[in-house]
Amino acid sequence: MAPEPSGIKVIIIGAGFAGLTAAIECIAHGHEVLLLEAFSELKPLGDIISFGHNAGRIFRRWPGVEEQLTAICQNTDRLTLYKWDGELLFDQIWELDEKEFEKNNGKKFNGHRAEIHKIVWDHAKSVGVEIKLGMKVEEYFESDREAGVVCNGERFVADVVLAADGVRSTARLAVLGYEDKPKSSGYAVWRTWFSSEELAKNPLTAPLVVNGDTHTGFLGPDIHFLAASTKGGKEMSWVCTHIDEADIEESWSTPGKIEDVIKTLDGWSPVVHALVKATPPDRLVDWKLVYRDALPKWVSPRRRIALLGDSAHPFLPTSIQGASQAMEDGVTVAICLELSGKSNVQEALLAYERIRYDRVRAAQQTGFTTRDKWHKADFEAIKANPEAIKLPREGWLLAHDAVTHAYEVYPKTVASIRRDFKEVKASL
Ligand SMILES: Cc1cc2nc3c(=O)[nH]c(=O)nc-3n(C[C@H](O)[C@H](O)[C@H](O)COP(=O)(O)OP(=O)(O)OC[C@H]3O[C@@H](n4cnc5c(N)ncnc54)[C@H](O)[C@@H]3O)c2cc1C
Repeated sequence: MAPEPSGIKVIIIGAGFAGLTAAIECIAHGHEVLLLEAFSELKPLGDIISFGHNAGRIFRRWPGVEEQLTAICQNTDRLTLYKWDGELLFDQIWELDEKEFEKNNGKKFNGHRAEIHKIVWDHAKSVGVEIKLGMKVEEYFESDREAGVVCNGERFVADVVLAADGVRSTARLAVLGYEDKPKSSGYAVWRTWFSSEELAKNPLTAPLVVNGDTHTGFLGPDIHFLAASTKGGKEMSWVCTHIDEADIEESWSTPGKIEDVIKTLDGWSPVVHALVKATPPDRLVDWKLVYRDALPKWVSPRRRIALLGDSAHPFLPTSIQGASQAMEDGVTVAICLELSGKSNVQEALLAYERIRYDRVRAAQQTGFTTRDKWHKADFEAIKANPEAIKLPREGWLLAHDAVTHAYEVYPKTVASIRRDFKEVKASL
């Protein structure tokens, strides 16, 4: 059944997972949506991306999407971790109650970013999201009554603008009032995705691909290498996060060099070397991982422009939550707008920020703790306690229901915003 129209006009910038989720959920809550995206066509860029159970719960809301994702995503409940030289550290088999956890929450998904993106994109179109391509937003503006953007010389106006324009967001300037420059994180990630045909012929790599999907990690000092096979083992993706001080732009398409990887992994397990050597040179990406300090706020001075997803909060890959948190943002802001009504949309954006901020900060931190756990591993101590190296799976993060949570906390969040504004007024 179509929702009651809210009369709220929303412009969304960026058709990544934050923007598409916000668009789908805004339509579901009765808002009118226009989505502007800079790219002029969908290109199959990227490689492996992960979504936690908390995002799976959101996919489940969209008819048919969970089934389509299940068909193309990784199918394994095991992560096998080795020391860099090939010594087994820990075989992490997801808890036996995994199926029950999935039933009550949502499924986790690991798969190709472009394939997952296309499924979500098609769903957005099917529910009536209007998407305009080739629209690189050049300017943001707002007043007490409206907000909008300028793009290709054209002005677009709405009640609110939701800027989901990614790690290189230009909307940040409109929100913060100053340019927030990225810093080098000190790390880069070599990453790839290719057919497993050759791997299946090599006895060193065959176990990773011939018996269905596998997920394998190799850990060394300040470096980790993760290999994931999908589609019944037919396709392979690996990522290698390593120290790199080079200061170049973060990009999903900068080519990498096989010989650099081999040099960096000198002395590592022959399995890792066989995987790297089998990688088609034109499929290797060198992704410089930049870092940004947490933003002090996500909402503009007149409270009609809000940042969502990576534009508000980039994640380290080791959090395995960047895309999931971007989706939670989209769900939350759509509900806040529904509950605020058209006359109170500014309050809705502030409430969205307050509901999300601390949770996102805590989720971001998990990226640092997991990276440090792996990169600074004390292998002698792990021998005595192998569980210490396992990937954390925390209930507060993965069992979160962003929809129920937003409805539950919105009234008290708005009450606290009003109280704070009263106090500020009284103190002037
Ligand atoms: C091409 C691409 C490939 C990626 N591949 C991977 C991957 O393999 N693995 C992984 O873990 N993560 C990948 N990511 C990042 C990942 O999708 C995000 O970290 C996460 O999903 C959060 O999504 P987001 O919507 O906030 O940002 P993004 O996914 O970055 O989406 C932002 C969108 O905004 C658009 N945009 C930017 N500026 C403007 C503007 N001025 N006007 C209009 N539109 C604008 C961009 O074109 C992009 O489509 C990729 C991102 C992109 C854009």
